[in-house]
Amino acid sequence: MMKDIELKALEEKHPLLKAVEAAQDVVWVNPNKRPFAEAAKDQVLTSEDIKDAEERLKRFAPFLMACFPETKATGGIIESPLTPIPKMQKHMEEKYNAEIPGRLVLKQDNALAIAGSVKARGGIYEVLKHTEELALEHGLLKPGDSYEKLASPECRKFFSDYTVQVGSTGNLGMSIGIMSAAIGYRAVVHMSADARQWKKDKLRSHGVTVKEYEADYGEAVKEGRALSDADPKSYFVDDENSQNLFLGYAVAASRLEGQLQKQDIKVDADHPMFVYIPCGVGGAPGGIAFGLKQKYGDNVHCFFIEPVQAPAMLLGMMTGLQHDISATDVGLTGLTEADGLAVSRPSGFVGKVMEPHLSGEFTLQDDALYGYMKDLLDTEGVFLEPSACAMFTGPQHLLSADETAAYIKENGLTDKMKDSVQLVWATGGSLVPDSVRESYVKKAESLE
Ligand SMILES: *Cc1c(COP(=O)(O)O)cnc(C)c1O
Repeated sequence: MMKDIELKALEEKHPLLKAVEAAQDVVWVNPNKRPFAEAAKDQVLTSEDIKDAEERLKRFAPFLMACFPETKATGGIIESPLTPIPKMQKHMEEKYNAEIPGRLVLKQDNALAIAGSVKARGGIYEVLKHTEELALEHGLLKPGDSYEKLASPECRKFFSDYTVQVGSTGNLGMSIGIMSAAIGYRAVVHMSADARQWKKDKLRSHGVTVKEYEADYGEAVKEGRALSDADPKSYFVDDENSQNLFLGYAVAASRLEGQLQKQDIKVDADHPMFVYIPCGVGGAPGGIAFGLKQKYGDNVHCFFIEPVQAPAMLLGMMTGLQHDISATDVGLTGLTEADGLAVSRPSGFVGKVMEPHLSGEFTLQDDALYGYMKDLLDTEGVFLEPSACAMFTGPQHLLSADETAAYIKENGLTDKMKDSVQLVWATGGSLVPDSVRESYVKKAESLE
């Protein structure tokens, strides 16, 4: 816990904080958001950096096809479908007595190849970037070579001398672990107490070493980092501070742009796009939102969603304390059934980058996750893991919450809402084993 006087001072400055402490669902609109043209001037990262990441992923496409035949259909590019979900939209409007404006569409990162979650973007990108650096440095690759070469037994043998490590609540570990093991690295994943057993089992089946911790995500990261730093041949993927992860996520924007165009879904001054992304430490939603802002500027409005007991990013952004505040500092548990979002302390790096770009945040109760999960399964036949379902609270409350209603008015969007795109970013689910799926559905039914 924070000292009483410090907390009192924060509560006075930020009246919403009391509701956050009481684990109520809240809606927060970011008072520090600025017009894009202005915000872009102070950016540390740019569109050029995202382009560079995109080019790197293209270079690795032949390698990915060689290692993961399931990526052949998309030419070695790992990308997810964009799916309109009108039945879910109608169902939500009826069931929750909500008005969801415009068109509800689902970005299906639950279906991303290899890792089955949004972490296939950042995590895989970072492992590939590290691999390219090692390969160039040690002469395994010369400029112009096909990267397919890296799948050869000689290269695998070379990489087996090196270790990749990461701390994770589950999905990041899966993406880093599976990719690292496929390249030939020794891979060690430090799993927090929240991590689901099936994710640990799956990693071990790929030959990954899984270290389990009684403590939360922050501790797993700390331990993993210390062990990795002690070994000169070990590389640590730092989820809290990594620009590489962030850029890997940001590549999503140009891919999405192509998909929207193909489906004739307009995003411009008359067709604003609202994007809702579940948030843990902030890297995935931050990277994606940052990429989208570079593409769509003021025409895209990004909201993060967090569980009421683990609103890490909300606390960091609202108080401006970023990495220096945690859910447990204000008396929350940091515990949630949304294992992918079970993070108490936010990334400081992402908070700072997103400060002028983020529109706001919603929080929700754990029980709501299961309701949304079943709603989507029943109406559209799509299964998502509970963490991913958090996003639906955004479109449900956008028009009815006072804070976001005011945001829409102040931004002159009232008349444009009927032509808006409401994009919910589904962050994971396709690798969930059938037995676990069934237990989630049972849980949802028990809550009805
Ligand atoms: C990791 C994860 C998120 C959030 O990503 P962060 O980078 O931790 O903010 C959201 N949903 C799922 C399913 C995840 O695994």
